[in-house]
Amino acid sequence: MSESAEKQSSDPAPAAAKPKLALYWAASCGGCEIAVLDIEEKILDVAANFDIVFWPVAMDFKTKDVEAMEDGEITLCLFNGAIRNDDNEYMAKLLRRKAKVLVAFGSCACEGCIPALSNATSKKETFDWVYHKSPSTDNAEGVEPQIKTKVNGFDLELPKFWETVRSLDQIVDVDYYVPGCPPQAHQIWAVLETVIDILKNGKPLPPKGTVLGAGQKTVCDECPRTREEKKIKKFFRPHEIIPDPDKCLLDQGILCMGPATRDGCDARCPSVCMPCRGCYGLPPNSRDQGAKMISALASVIDSEDPEEVDKILDGIVDPIGSFYRFSLAKATLGRKLTQRPETPQAQPQLEEVAK
Ligand code: SF4
Ligand code: SF4
Repeated sequence: MSESAEKQSSDPAPAAAKPKLALYWAASCGGCEIAVLDIEEKILDVAANFDIVFWPVAMDFKTKDVEAMEDGEITLCLFNGAIRNDDNEYMAKLLRRKAKVLVAFGSCACEGCIPALSNATSKKETFDWVYHKSPSTDNAEGVEPQIKTKVNGFDLELPKFWETVRSLDQIVDVDYYVPGCPPQAHQIWAVLETVIDILKNGKPLPPKGTVLGAGQKTVCDECPRTREEKKIKKFFRPHEIIPDPDKCLLDQGILCMGPATRDGCDARCPSVCMPCRGCYGLPPNSRDQGAKMISALASVIDSEDPEEVDKILDGIVDPIGSFYRFSLAKATLGRKLTQRPETPQAQPQLEEVAK
């Protein structure tokens, strides 16, 4: 055997190309990215089964690496974060083009989550607070971020900050949803394991639009507390009473979003005496999480006297933040109207502002 033939025969066979995985973080706190690491040593199985081609929070990839890929080259993209500026929009559209399967990963991408609470106010009010009035702001010259700034003769550019925060599927077509703030580690692994099984064993993909890594009922259905659907005379904030450890928190007057929230987290919060805040989002067959909760509350208020009902409901501090903490981008309410068109012709301008 010639020397080169001998060398060739001892070279390892080229490894079969692995499916490509991308993870991206838009408008969010980053907790979803950390939650991926919460799957602990199973992250090694992810690395063994996927070629991770984009994950800016963990590895040094650049946007131009993604731009250089063929369309559809990424097998699976887990996209977390809402869309609140031009850069988020650009990355959502880019990753949609490059990924065969795009997953809205976590509550911000699914329903807007905490960033979308700013839809209850305006960009101006947000900037006023952040850059002028907040106690932690030191900004004597009243500087606000500009899209273009000249620094030492160079043009610096920042993405345009939108008036309205959007969920991922309000910007691009989404294949699947993984809810949670953040998704629980065991559910993230269940989703990744399902995808690995599909890729390895050629199983069919679930129907488009399926919510993965969650259940088909409500948090109440997996909550260990006993619910008797008692009538309420007064609402309490969690620090105002010491609740019975075994009884339903809502029965005890603590606003718990369990009846209006999809299950799948093992009822993490009520299990440790904290009310569910609603992070797994809308339960199946519902269109509006806040409306579902309001309807659940209607049956537990212990009064038929409108004045007394008002008084009881006044005990709910911050109704929008309570009922829509995670889902305002998708709420039927839409957003606070910040500008009224003076004439019908002014409408296109308003839509531009609302972006
Ligand atoms: S309302 Fe909250 S505490 Fe009560 S059963 Fe449902 S999830 Fe559990
Ligand atoms: S109990 Fe509610 S807020 Fe807590 S993790 Fe589960 S869905 Fe999220």
